[in-house]
Amino acid sequence: MRKSEVVVVGAGIAGLTSAAILSKQGLSVTLIESHTQSGGCAGTFKRKNYVFDVGATQVAGLEKGGIHSRIFDFLDIPSPEASILDPACIVDLNDGHTPIHIWYEKSKWIAEREMQFPGSGRFWNLCTHIHQSNWIFANNNPVLPISNFWDFSQLFKALVPSNLVTGILLKSTIFDLLRICGLSKNGRLIKFLNLQLKLYSQEDVYNTAALYGSTILQICQQPHGLWHLKQSMQSLSDALENSLTKTGVNLIFGQKVNSVNFDDRNKCWKVSANSKKDSFVYQAKDLIYTAPPQSLLEHLKEPLNKKQSYKNRLINLPDPSGAIVFYSALKKEHIKKISSHHYQFVSREFGSLFVSISEDGDGRAPKGEITLIASIFTKTKDWFNLDKQNYLNRKNDFLKKISFELERQFDIVSENWLHRELATPLGFQKWTNRPNGIVGGLGQNPDIFGLFGLSSRTPFQGLWLCGDSIYPGEGTAGVSQSALMVSKQILASKGIDNFNL
Ligand SMILES: Cc1cc2nc3c(=O)[nH]c(=O)nc-3n(C[C@H](O)[C@H](O)[C@H](O)COP(=O)(O)OP(=O)(O)OC[C@H]3O[C@@H](n4cnc5c(N)ncnc54)[C@H](O)[C@@H]3O)c2cc1C
Repeated sequence: MRKSEVVVVGAGIAGLTSAAILSKQGLSVTLIESHTQSGGCAGTFKRKNYVFDVGATQVAGLEKGGIHSRIFDFLDIPSPEASILDPACIVDLNDGHTPIHIWYEKSKWIAEREMQFPGSGRFWNLCTHIHQSNWIFANNNPVLPISNFWDFSQLFKALVPSNLVTGILLKSTIFDLLRICGLSKNGRLIKFLNLQLKLYSQEDVYNTAALYGSTILQICQQPHGLWHLKQSMQSLSDALENSLTKTGVNLIFGQKVNSVNFDDRNKCWKVSANSKKDSFVYQAKDLIYTAPPQSLLEHLKEPLNKKQSYKNRLINLPDPSGAIVFYSALKKEHIKKISSHHYQFVSREFGSLFVSISEDGDGRAPKGEITLIASIFTKTKDWFNLDKQNYLNRKNDFLKKISFELERQFDIVSENWLHRELATPLGFQKWTNRPNGIVGGLGQNPDIFGLFGLSSRTPFQGLWLCGDSIYPGEGTAGVSQSALMVSKQILASKGIDNFNL
């Protein structure tokens, strides 16, 4: 039996960040990861001469005052090398109009959106007001949703007067904001917003919570911005691992947690894991669980049977999406002139494709070549329960169709692909242990966002949830905020009530 004060399950960005914060605060921490490397959905894999970002390809929160940057400062480690994305993305609605450039520079973005969506200024200004109010609140590190008096006190401390005004919109959607601004019939604007919101909230205009969507729609611009990491996305995890090494975290790779149970006699959590050869048991008063909460149904069987209403809540969580990701490489000269790392375009076949293109010499491909990654959402159930041949046929069909869409969009000649492969929900399940390969968190609609979501504090004392299903939601910046929240809660439970970054 290996003992520490805290056991963390999963070395994705949520697990790495919470382990790093708590260890820096002096707690003994064991971090268990089933994979042979850290990063989870924000990790990378190598193929031939290429390094591919598995899921996440861009990072928010690296600017001064941003969540990653605040955490790196606190950990006293350098931020990974990164450049600002300007434009953050070029969105082609394939409707005969010029593609929309989402500029970093505010004045350029205001001019662009006025040109692309004349008369939409009122909507964007409303989003800006809501976002500014959200941002002060988020930077005050609230605890959401609230489960006890301490959580409430943190929420109360984080509130500023403007939150009381924007709070009226708690149950509103982005479509409600469009309606307020007289833009509910602006088809082109709605089409654009649908594409962007789906990427970050897994919901469309009609279902994205207004308070969440308003921030998402401002995140690409000054003073925030999205960042492209040099080398690969792995450098974010490497930086955090560096901190874990410095503070002595017991970081274990290649062991898969298969059950968690409360040991009544010793009043602590017992975590059982196995490697290919052996099995292990870890013990701690606090357990941070960063695998999707749906996995608790498999890992927390006995305790959950005693809390039937919580179990039902987990069973009834809405189905998150799966992803299909196309990883490819090309000579730089074999793709039409590229002026952004990220593109999103409307496709008749798939609705939309989100494309991330590396920079020549940024470490992802040999000089003169680039990697191109394209992703689409899919229903996970469409990929399971197929026999092997049907699965392979379906996968091959998607590879061909995605190739074709990219060839058409970027003037690529089909013979010029240097590498192509596809990940389906089965691949994501294998890579991250996410049940059925679900990715991202819970859709950010008004019934799930903020006060109404799943709390990091569970009905089981000492068992904490963290990651992209917990406030404030998905993305490396979101899960870092949730890691900070859980760390604060654990420290407070140990009498350290004034911890803040
Ligand atoms: C295709 C795609 C594109 C994306 N694009 C972006 C983007 O551009 N920018 C952005 O910010 N975000 C993006 N995201 C979202 C972002 O990657 C995730 O929200 C975030 O990385 C999740 O971090 P996490 O730590 O919560 O979970 P995960 O990354 O899933 O990490 C959980 C870890 O726990 C481990 N684990 C699970 N079960 C067990 C077990 N039983 N035992 C031991 N270990 C276990 C897993 O192996 C994994 O390493 C994207 C996601 C996908 C899938």
